[in-house]
Amino acid sequence: MQGEPEVAVLRLGHRPGRDDRMTTHVALTARALGADRVLLPENATDAVETASDVTGRFGGPFAVESTGRTVSILEEWEGSIAHLTMYGEPVQTVEEEVRAAHREEPLLVVVGAEKVPWDAYEHADWNVGVTNQPHSEVAALGVFLDRLFEGRALDREWKGAERAVVPKAEGKLVEEVDGDGE
Ligand code: SAM
Repeated sequence: MQGEPEVAVLRLGHRPGRDDRMTTHVALTARALGADRVLLPENATDAVETASDVTGRFGGPFAVESTGRTVSILEEWEGSIAHLTMYGEPVQTVEEEVRAAHREEPLLVVVGAEKVPWDAYEHADWNVGVTNQPHSEVAALGVFLDRLFEGRALDREWKGAERAVVPKAEGKLVEEVDGDGE
């Protein structure tokens, strides 16, 4: 979130075809729920395109980066690292520690796809479970970010948007940001 140390989300791994939708939703969830940047594997071309397009239409700031690096990002990261894994400590147990660290320095949030390399567990300052049940990187990321920001990301302002959704009890309304309704 603007004015705070950076939160970047790293998607470790991507299986073209099988993971296209999930990797895209990791990027869209990172953007919508307060992260500043997402780092996607360079073979996740669809996800990079979709997340960049959504940022262009509905605003930012949000950086979408494609990378061929994995473990070296963890080794060179200057800040704290939270690796989301069903095997980790309960998020409710570590969330305050993570928030305190994030008040001081950037935070890298890591989610896996296929088999996660042991390096992710070893380099993490926290291995965090959103329950210790198997579910998905998207759900885990959503819950984690909401707890990290304590709901503040739900009210964030978007800059440079071409359009914005007008919340309605029924139906759908999307307005051009220059004021003409659709
Ligand atoms: N089979 C892979 C492994 O164990 O390395 C993980 C597959 S899982 C569907 C993909 C990702 O979802 C995990 O790497 C983790 O980031 C996330 N995930 C799934 N369940 C989770 C949980 N209960 N808590 C936190 N993250 C979770």
